[in-house]
Amino acid sequence: MKLFPVYPLFDIEPVKAQGATLWDKKGDTYLDLYGGHAVISIGHNHPHYVERIKEQLDKIVFYSNSVQNPLQEELAQKLGELSGLEEYALFLCNSGAEANENALKIASFQTQKKKILCFDKAFHGRTSAAVAVTDNPKIQAPLNQGHEIVRIQLNNFQALEYAFATQGDELAGVIIEGIQGVGGIHLPSAEFLVALRNLCNQYNVILILDEVQSGYGRSGNFFGFQRANIHPDLITMAKGMGNGFPVGGVLIHPKIEAWSGMLGTTFGGNHLACVAATAVLEVIESENLMDNALKIGAQWKDAFKAISPIKEVRGEGLMLGLEFDFPIKALREKLLFEHHIFTGYSGTDVIRLLPPLNLTKEEAARFAETLHKLTANH
Ligand code: PLP
Repeated sequence: MKLFPVYPLFDIEPVKAQGATLWDKKGDTYLDLYGGHAVISIGHNHPHYVERIKEQLDKIVFYSNSVQNPLQEELAQKLGELSGLEEYALFLCNSGAEANENALKIASFQTQKKKILCFDKAFHGRTSAAVAVTDNPKIQAPLNQGHEIVRIQLNNFQALEYAFATQGDELAGVIIEGIQGVGGIHLPSAEFLVALRNLCNQYNVILILDEVQSGYGRSGNFFGFQRANIHPDLITMAKGMGNGFPVGGVLIHPKIEAWSGMLGTTFGGNHLACVAATAVLEVIESENLMDNALKIGAQWKDAFKAISPIKEVRGEGLMLGLEFDFPIKALREKLLFEHHIFTGYSGTDVIRLLPPLNLTKEEAARFAETLHKLTANH
């Protein structure tokens, strides 16, 4: 049987990994500044994480959500402590799109409405509801979604106020990324998030913060939106949550009450997923990885000032977008094939950096120096 070829693939096969380093089957090493789309938060094969998972493998790996699983409470407790959002409740699922799917459903359950406000350049996943709120006409047009979509420009206060003034009464929810990832690292301003929170309160609309990419410490805050000091109604997360183990979740504000049958899942919150997600939190805490994300992010921002073809550096902590004044495809290929450095991209001109949060200053410096050399003649 053949695989269904929907992803472009590099001809590199990693067989071993440690921290931010990958080894391929030829024995070559690579610096991983992308972490499989922001998934590797505490570094590949972190010893504490590996030990916790191995311990669990010896006990019980999976049983469905019809019996007690105290590992879910342990995870919720730790997540509350590190995020500072102890009052929220946790629903566990398996991926980012599934977390958003659940959040969109909750918004409609709460309001009995189906219109969702979302933003240009947004990305929220690949289920049909998540695709509907994603900004990509090619993949969303043919699908018949249960939600009606209103899309406006990010950080455009006039468009925001107009959308609420004209359609606020029909809106179930608003979905917004704490920091836009796939769309090219764009930040909703703190003022924009505050305005959004106020309008959602005024019109009784559910505010959903998609922290699937920007959450779990990556921005230097636990969640990207926390720079604005607001409290969303729903917060979705996945990616860095399991450091590679598939796990996602929704944090639900206490004003939203659970009812039996409201949400459900077979695999969500299984024993291994809970242990993986808790181990990630333990490492983020014990190794001060949010501080490291801020420190290395600042070191990079400083170093990038000397690289003149970079038009703009956007982002926070270790979620950065470097916008160049030329298309970056050839540059990324050079970085990967000649200098063995993995990076991400967005569109044609933006390099996206999403490395492990324990990236060292030497690894960060190696990338900045290589980039400097490679762009010297541009
Ligand atoms: N939301 C955001 C902001 C994302 O960046 C992504 C994936 O890139 C998703 C949702 C979807 O997550 P998943 O691929 O785990 O379904």
